[in-house]
Amino acid sequence: MNRRDLFRAAAVAVAPAVAGPAVAGAGDTGFETEIVRLKLRHTWTTVMSSSEYRDVLYARYTRDGVTGHGEGAPIVRYKEDAKAAQAALESVRPLVLSSDPWEFEKLMARVFHDVPGANAAKAALDIALMDWAGQKLGVPLYRWFGLDPQDAPVTTFSIGIDNPAVTRDKVREAAPYAVLKIKVGLDTDEATIAAVRSVTDKPLRVDANEGWTNKETALRKIEWLAKQGVEFVEQPMPADRLDDIRWIHQRTPLPLIADESVLHPADIPRLQGVFDGINVKLDKCGGIMEAYREIQIAKALGMKTMLGCMISSSCTVTAAAHLSPLVDYADLDGNLLIANDPWRGVIVEHGRLVLPDRPGLGLMAANEHE
Ligand code: MG
Repeated sequence: MNRRDLFRAAAVAVAPAVAGPAVAGAGDTGFETEIVRLKLRHTWTTVMSSSEYRDVLYARYTRDGVTGHGEGAPIVRYKEDAKAAQAALESVRPLVLSSDPWEFEKLMARVFHDVPGANAAKAALDIALMDWAGQKLGVPLYRWFGLDPQDAPVTTFSIGIDNPAVTRDKVREAAPYAVLKIKVGLDTDEATIAAVRSVTDKPLRVDANEGWTNKETALRKIEWLAKQGVEFVEQPMPADRLDDIRWIHQRTPLPLIADESVLHPADIPRLQGVFDGINVKLDKCGGIMEAYREIQIAKALGMKTMLGCMISSSCTVTAAAHLSPLVDYADLDGNLLIANDPWRGVIVEHGRLVLPDRPGLGLMAANEHE
């Protein structure tokens, strides 16, 4: 089965857009978008939602005999879905087909200017273009950015919200991972952490996903979490409650990391003094280049950096992993939570991210051998 067939086999909601006529002078340029349904290993529950599958958008960009692959996971929190994401990318088809892919910075600037929102769609295009360019140059993306793959950090493995018995089972299954990220934000938080602690003494990181709505309660929970071996807390309160989060920040023993409070580079300066760091996700900001900008701005402001992901295949997770030597923390496990990953890219060994050294993203079809 070749890569293209594999894509098709993995897609249940296939809506391939017809590769439109290439604009004169664009050679054999092709651009396809496709909605792919990723099946989850476990029902995935956070404060925001519960689901058995996720629909993501794939983008394929072909030129001069090379195909770049990209993926974006639309985020419900920002009112994105796969169909709207596909429509957003289709709206820029003439621009994509007529642009010089070596000038992807200019192309993506136009896309960011012309298309409001649709960050997952932008990420799918940006990743496909960078995969294409990396393959054409014959270099892995981490090398393009001048990074040492040995600096890639340990990744957390995420444990969604569940009852204590299932939580204990999930923690046991996560034995290969050195650090766990625990989803909290409900009134079952203490029971969840107690269940985790009954089976492991690993370091924990905690994500409240905006779930705590009272600052005093949030502070009390964080003080309790600090005694449970928790390293930091992600997004304790709703994204726009920055005054309350600053109040917590002035009192809390644990670092606070912004996730829902930061989408784009321009959001970062106002978070100084409110959070200690930011969680950068390609699907949230719109791709590799935008994520790179966020990481550099946060570093320049003296803030910690983290790379996170949505539930995605190895395509987006590997794209993010190529930037991971730059960051303090990685939470790049979205591909490990799905049962039908069409790709093989970054892998985890002894809890640490191991980047592929093939050109571009370095993806292989899941059943392909080197
Ligand atoms: Mg988060």
